[in-house]
Amino acid sequence: MKSRAAVFSEPAKPLAIESFDLPEKIEPGAALCKVQMSTICGSDLHTIFGRRQEPTPLILGHEIIGRIVALGDGLDRDGFGGPVGVGDRITWSIMASCGKCFYCRRQLPQKCEHLRKYGHTRSTEPPHLPGGYAEHIYLFPGTAIFRVPDGLVDAVATPANCALSTVVNALETIGLNRGETVLIQGAGLLGLNLIALCREAGAGRIFVTDVVARRLEFASRFGADTCFNLAESDPDEVVAAIRGSTGGYGVDLALEVCGSPDAVTQAVRTLRIGGRYLIAGLVTPGSDLTLDGNRITRNYLTIKGIHNYHPDHLTAALRFLEKHARQYPYDELVGATFALDDINRAVQVAASGEFIRVGISDF
Ligand SMILES: [Zn+2]
Ligand SMILES: [Zn+2]
Repeated sequence: MKSRAAVFSEPAKPLAIESFDLPEKIEPGAALCKVQMSTICGSDLHTIFGRRQEPTPLILGHEIIGRIVALGDGLDRDGFGGPVGVGDRITWSIMASCGKCFYCRRQLPQKCEHLRKYGHTRSTEPPHLPGGYAEHIYLFPGTAIFRVPDGLVDAVATPANCALSTVVNALETIGLNRGETVLIQGAGLLGLNLIALCREAGAGRIFVTDVVARRLEFASRFGADTCFNLAESDPDEVVAAIRGSTGGYGVDLALEVCGSPDAVTQAVRTLRIGGRYLIAGLVTPGSDLTLDGNRITRNYLTIKGIHNYHPDHLTAALRFLEKHARQYPYDELVGATFALDDINRAVQVAASGEFIRVGISDF
C-alpha cells in the first residue's frame, strides 16, 4: 500500500506530492496513523522560505492529529493511562525520545541525545513518513500519545501539541501567583494560548504587545486587558504606559514569545523589582541581547528560558482545552483548510498572515 505526502526539497520550490510505501511491519512501541488534520506552524514557513536550515528532502508538519491504523507491540495505553486501539483519534508529543540518555534521565526528554522530531526528519530514511503534510504518519517508539478528548474538534486539538504545550511549560517554569500583572510579548498562537492560561490561573492585568493589528484583536478577545501595537508606538512610551498602569512599579511577570531580541531589552525595563522573565521565542542562532546587567542585579530579576516541552505538558494542555476551550475563540484559530493536493496554496495563505493557522485535511 502507498501513501502520498508533500515533500519539501529546497526553499522557493513548490512542495511536490510523492508516494511512499507504507511500512509492512510496525516496530514495538511505534504506531501508524492516518492523518486527520495538520496545521501549518510558523516554523514550517521559516523552513519553506529558507529562513531555517533543515535536512532535506523533508515532509514538514508537526502539529498533527491522526487515527491509529496499526500499533506496534507494547503500545496499548496512552499518556492519560487509558487503553488505545485502532481507529482512535490521537495527538502526540512533537518528538520521540530514547528514555535512557543523560537528558532523558534528567527529565528533559525534549533534549534527548537521540531525539527525532516530527517534520524535521528526512523522508528518504525508512519508515519514510515522519511528517504531517501526508496521508499517513509513522510514530517512532518513544513518542507520548494521547487520545483526543471527544469534545474537542480537530481544528482546536491539532495545534495543541506545539504552541499550547510549549506555553504550559513556560508558565509552569516561571510560575504565576493569583493577581500578578503580566506582560506577554507576541500575540501569535503561543501568546494567545498564554493569555488564556494566565487568565485561568488568576492573573491580574495582562498587557500584550505585537506588531500585527489582527493578532492584537485576537489577543483582546482571548482576554488581554491592554494591547500595544509596536509597529505604531514608541517603545519608551509603551514601557512608561505599562509602568503607569502598575502604580509605577512595573509588571510582576513577563513572557517573550515573539522571537525578537529587542523584546528582552524592553521587558527588563518593564519588570518590577523582583520581577520574573521567561524567554521562549528566541530560536534563531545569533539572537544577541543588549542588556544592562546593572538593572538585573539591582532589580533582583529572574530570567529563564525554555524550549519545547515534556509530555506531561501535553497532558496538561489537553486537559486545559477540554475544560476551557469553549470560553475562548479557539475555534476561530484555523481560518482556512485545504486538501493535501492544494498544499502550495495552503502555504501561500499561511504566509499571508491572514489567519493564526491554516489547516490541511480532506485527504
Ligand atoms: Zn508548531
Ligand atoms: Zn534520550
